[in-house]
Amino acid sequence: MREIMKHHTKKKVLHQWNKLRGIPIEWNLSPYQKILAQINACDLENATDSELKQISARLIEQARQGVSLAHLLAEAFALVRETAGRTIGLRPFDMQVAAGIVMHQGKLAEMNTGEGKTLAAVLPAYLNALTGKGVHIHTFNDYLARRDASWMGPVYTFLGLSVGCIQEGMSHSERKKAYAADITYSTAKEAGFDYLRDHLCYDHENLVHRDFNCVIVDEADSLLIDEARIPLVIAGSTDQPEAEPGNLAQIAKSLKEGIDFETDEGKRNIYLTPSGLKKIEKILGCKNLHALENLDLLTKVNQALHAEFLLHRNIDYVVRKGKIEIVDEFTGRVVKDRHWPDGLQAAVEAKEKLRLGSGGSILGSITLQHFLQLYPKISGMTATAQSAANELHRFYNLKVVVIPPHRPCIRSDFPDLVFTHKETKVKALIREITHWNEKQRPILVGTSSVEESEELTLALKEAGIFCRVLNAKNDELEAKIIARAGAPGAVTISTNMAGRGTDIKLGGEREQERDEVVKLGGLYVIGTNRHESLRIDQQLRGRAGRQGDPGSSRFFISLEDSLIERYGLRKILPRKYRKLEQDAPLDHPLVNRQISHGQRIIEGQNFEIRKTLWKYSVLVEKQRKIIQERRQEILCDGPDFGFLEEKTPERFYDLESLLGKDRIQNIEKTITLFQIDRCWAEHLALIAEVREGIHLASVGGKSPVQEFHKIADTEFHRLEQKIGDTILQTFLSLPLSEKRIDLDREGIRGPSSTWTYLITDNQFGLWVGLLQGSNIGATAVAAAAYGPLFLLLGLVQRFSGKKKDSSGYPAQQPRR
Ligand code: ADP
Ligand code: MG
Repeated sequence: MREIMKHHTKKKVLHQWNKLRGIPIEWNLSPYQKILAQINACDLENATDSELKQISARLIEQARQGVSLAHLLAEAFALVRETAGRTIGLRPFDMQVAAGIVMHQGKLAEMNTGEGKTLAAVLPAYLNALTGKGVHIHTFNDYLARRDASWMGPVYTFLGLSVGCIQEGMSHSERKKAYAADITYSTAKEAGFDYLRDHLCYDHENLVHRDFNCVIVDEADSLLIDEARIPLVIAGSTDQPEAEPGNLAQIAKSLKEGIDFETDEGKRNIYLTPSGLKKIEKILGCKNLHALENLDLLTKVNQALHAEFLLHRNIDYVVRKGKIEIVDEFTGRVVKDRHWPDGLQAAVEAKEKLRLGSGGSILGSITLQHFLQLYPKISGMTATAQSAANELHRFYNLKVVVIPPHRPCIRSDFPDLVFTHKETKVKALIREITHWNEKQRPILVGTSSVEESEELTLALKEAGIFCRVLNAKNDELEAKIIARAGAPGAVTISTNMAGRGTDIKLGGEREQERDEVVKLGGLYVIGTNRHESLRIDQQLRGRAGRQGDPGSSRFFISLEDSLIERYGLRKILPRKYRKLEQDAPLDHPLVNRQISHGQRIIEGQNFEIRKTLWKYSVLVEKQRKIIQERRQEILCDGPDFGFLEEKTPERFYDLESLLGKDRIQNIEKTITLFQIDRCWAEHLALIAEVREGIHLASVGGKSPVQEFHKIADTEFHRLEQKIGDTILQTFLSLPLSEKRIDLDREGIRGPSSTWTYLITDNQFGLWVGLLQGSNIGATAVAAAAYGPLFLLLGLVQRFSGKKKDSSGYPAQQPRR
């Protein structure tokens, strides 16, 4: 332990530097050492099993009587440590215990891949579950929720606590049971969908969630940053079919780049030229597409253009069984349950000539970020948090604490090899893989898309190398494949994060082959692209060198990679490098440095984008809270009876005497819930429309955020009024037949069916309209301060150029 700490102090200089810059990262573990010493002082080794159980029972009782958890920490942690050793054969190392303390204190523990985060989380989970109010542990996918709950389960049950796990497709009663457990493992997505479903419930007996208490988020950066803005959506069936965008897709296909429309450098936005605009106006027979009354049409035209020219089949989405399936830009994986915002989804379906998905209306939605903020206490763990520390602090008030590895990491991270052309890059990749494969060294290749994985597999096949490919269809199967990626001679190709959470053991499943692989230098991780986010690159590297294993990592990139192209790196290279088709990598010191600079600038921009989007969402989130709280109150305690009595006493008393007090109260409750839900859904639709169109209002120089807030605010006041009005109207218009009122027949009930999905709105989506007038320019400039001038110029062009574009209107749906 002391040695590790010494190793760690090297980083202290960095710590000072971060402190100066105000970045909330802790390197210094001495505050935790004191507690650690207390834990180590609790000697439970000689206690019998039943004595351990008795201690647990006492701790539970103390916690429920109000003894503070901080007070119980040392004993509880020592107890878990001893129990874990006995039940599952893993006794937490000091560093895992330290991570547990960090998490109990509501911070984020950064621990390398393979250091045993799953076990570390059990310590704070047990402690926080003592009160009986429930602890949720959010995992990266369903498979991991299942795995972790059954892997760690024996520890909890031994100590008298219950454990549950949520899986997609589980029934209502199974979910309720799992959430009633002391510790519940699930994905954030499932927990969020359940939250949304709960808020459409008509009987409080049917709620599956309890009040939120505490959450521990695994792979926290992925969820808290990369996926944070993704809205979870619940929709319900309605009878109205979607408008047919088929002919707009036809029109879009007839347009020509450079004549009718232009795209910006990053291919994220598309603009109609005046000639394109005229053409469309003529075909559609409308005089001025930018007139206010054509706002809806303009939005649809922009969506059609976006779908046709900016979203590419097999890169951004795949078509499978007559359906669009979105490819996550981060992971390169096909993601289930994900949609683009309705209009864009329909436009892509039209482009691919698919049958449009059945229309429904959105009944509720919440972003993962806001959902996670509903937990009074949040903490997490991940291997890559440092570069996101600022953002974690700002949005979640989470501090990052860096936990040193149990054994020092000896992985060699080689500098990138940069080639001029993609073709030469691929050739070099094949050479490199062949070279090491002949020696039987295991290789893991991380690609950026399903398509790239497939191309590479083909090329390797031609070179006579057998490889396994993960394309994100089955998490459990992938976990099995990735677990074998460390076996001698294994070549595994996977998109960025496939198989995340699974350990790669050297030698694969056969321990005796470990030595052989160690001699060859351990697992060799090769990245075929640098990612927009440094964290994702680090995740990939972290696949090798777990728990002090040998290993190496290297990225192969080319100036033709989309990330590099987008930021015009080629332009700064001396002329002689630009055209040559060379086989050797570029040997120019500027290149590697610029790539890192570029990456940092993009990260800065993306942070700005998330901040801006957050500004849009907070107000609606506040509104949602007000409505939901009122709804839950009504659901559990009944409405504020007296409203109908006061508004329409005559009919009220008539019905009351006819139907009885209970029935009339029940009717009032049902109508109230029904109208709250309906009016809220309408409000959401309206807000979405306003948001989509708001940048058009900003052309006049007004701040779009302010405009948006103004409209949303006014509409919300109207909403409150409207709910009251519609309740009254419904009550007055209820037909009475044979002295009965049949609410069901009148359609006053919850939606006949609901379904849930995610809207893809990932962080690369620039809501350009929303960003106009925001201060993104300023940060980009600041970020560029340590980058070369060309990047600065590029950015200024990117962000200001579009205002001056020929038509004056950026397309509405940037890349999501
Ligand atoms: P992470 O989530 O940090 O990447 P995992 O929780 O998947 O790591 O654990 C990685 C490996 O380390 C697993 O094979 C696990 O069995 C092992 N491990 C974890 N904690 C311990 C421990 N205290 N003693 C021995 N092995 C451990
Ligand atoms: Mg893990």
